[in-house]
Amino acid sequence: MIKDNPRITARLRAKSLLLLNMLYKPSELSEEVGLAKETIIRYADKFGLPSTKDNSGHIWVNGKAFRIWASEISEELKVKELTRTENDFHCVRCGFVTVTSFERHPVNNPIGKTERHSANCPKCNNKMSKFARAKND
Ligand SMILES: [Zn+2]
Repeated sequence: MIKDNPRITARLRAKSLLLLNMLYKPSELSEEVGLAKETIIRYADKFGLPSTKDNSGHIWVNGKAFRIWASEISEELKVKELTRTENDFHCVRCGFVTVTSFERHPVNNPIGKTERHSANCPKCNNKMSKFARAKND
């Protein structure tokens, strides 16, 4: 669904409550919260998870900082989800973007009326499309 955003599940947030105000190696944190070590490193590199690097280049994450980060990110994602409109698309390169217009393609679907919406990303011109419920009016 949201490809290039961190995935903060309720379970992850619950587990993060048990983290202590101390530094963890990604492998230790991985065991505590059940995320892959690589995922933790990616969150630190790209998604603002507070971390420090020691002299040998190893990443350390403070448990309390992780908990606060996870809760802030999940609030942010909730707001994004609630405020999304028909004109909001997800570009694989740029993340969420808003377009001024898009094309509607009817989809034959025996279960209900659906459409495929397509548009070009206003930032990188990448083709984007998504499925949506058709409007009945
Ligand atoms: Zn784009």
